Amino acid sequence: MNKYLEEDNSTIASIVTGKGQAGVGIIRISGKNAKKIAKKITGIKELKARRAYFTKFKKATGVLIDEGLLLFFSAPNSFTGEDVVEFQGHGGTIVLNILLEEILKRGARQAEAGEFSARAFFNGKIDLIQAEAIADLIAAESKVAALSAINSMNGIFSKKVNKIIDVFINLRVYIEAAIDFVEEDIEFLEDEEIYQRFKELELELKKLLAEADKGKNLQEGFTIVLAGNPNVGKSSLLNTLTGMDSAIVTNIKGTTRDIIKEVIYIKGIPIKVFDTAGIRETKNLIEAEGIKRAKKSLENADQIFWLIEKDDYKIDENIFSIEKQEKLIRKNKLVFIRNKIDLINEKAEIKKINLKRKNLEVDLIKISAKKNLGINLLIDFLEKSLEKEDFGENVFSARTRHIMSLKKVYSFIKDTLKNWNKIQELELLAEDLRLMQKELETITGKFSNQDLLTKIFSGFCIGK
Ligand code: GDP
Repeated sequence: MNKYLEEDNSTIASIVTGKGQAGVGIIRISGKNAKKIAKKITGIKELKARRAYFTKFKKATGVLIDEGLLLFFSAPNSFTGEDVVEFQGHGGTIVLNILLEEILKRGARQAEAGEFSARAFFNGKIDLIQAEAIADLIAAESKVAALSAINSMNGIFSKKVNKIIDVFINLRVYIEAAIDFVEEDIEFLEDEEIYQRFKELELELKKLLAEADKGKNLQEGFTIVLAGNPNVGKSSLLNTLTGMDSAIVTNIKGTTRDIIKEVIYIKGIPIKVFDTAGIRETKNLIEAEGIKRAKKSLENADQIFWLIEKDDYKIDENIFSIEKQEKLIRKNKLVFIRNKIDLINEKAEIKKINLKRKNLEVDLIKISAKKNLGINLLIDFLEKSLEKEDFGENVFSARTRHIMSLKKVYSFIKDTLKNWNKIQELELLAEDLRLMQKELETITGKFSNQDLLTKIFSGFCIGK
């Protein structure tokens, strides 16, 4: 049964502290029976909100279970927005389970993973971004990931999205008024101010997308894709980087069919390294699938390490058009790695190569994956490019689903601006604006569906 339902009014309870032995263990109850259950177990007659009671916890038979603190938060002033009680007893698995059993007997049921947060969401205590940030904070594997999650939990990201939603609402009001009052649609579009507002929206969205993308990277890791022709040494470099034998190193062309992912940590930031199948034309179906996936991971990479064996700085145009290659180089996303320098007796180094077209310069790192030469230069390079990122106090966490929605809305605004002079139907524009507003509202959860909510909340740990 799906437990993430707005209309579920049962009382839920769960041990909310981690497993194992600890000084203190906490059980939380939320729902209409919370107060009644607490009174029965402690014998306290008048339970006042926001006061700590040192008390005994007893079974219905009078048998003593434990003693500790009892806290009561009265609805709506609690985490979930419902009546909430916390039993703070001793942190042993058995003693906590005996207490929980007693609580369940007296009119509560075991909470599902994420159910407390789901209730907080339904009761308007937090939005969906904040709920996701709670899970991200608990799951954070690095300091920056934790810092960014707490900022999202605090509402930094939500505020920015809501600000953009407000602009959409204003634009819709304006356009819908124009539909009602202006005879010629064209006149409205000649209004310079409205065009300017779309322009500003484009800029705002672009900025927010970049910030959210960084936040997503802090949670999910930056991605580096190792690419290049078969046999240049991609798997070997991956092995050297991770120090593990995860990729099959072989000299038979085309064996790295699958995309192998490893995570390395630089400055506490997770970096996912992908090894792609040697990209080339192939008749082999399995390999073709690998190539398809490789192309996709290249599209999404934060950094592409293009491995080469000769001083040949060309990438097959079937993989990236020349324009695309130039764009990647300008954005510092593409770096050439000259591998196997041990075979030509050259020294490891980093330098800039002038591509002799449009004055483009690209970074070249000379290494030997097999002989472990220049790997430190490569790590330095990564560290420096991470340093350029701002992990200041305003960084916030984000997830792929947020980015996807923002991208959708951003390209809509871009297209609208591009076709500005061709827009004839204000009704259509108004409708599109309405749909885009709805898209933005899926980010904060103002507009959501059951499947999405189930997916998000079931990813939480029990007790949160
Ligand atoms: P991939 O197809 O790009 O993943 O290439 P592999 O990592 O499987 O390497 C292909 C072959 O090149 C293997 O025989 C490796 O041992 C060899 N190789 C990889 N890196 C180096 C290197 O730095 N120096 C030398 N001499 N051989 C290397």
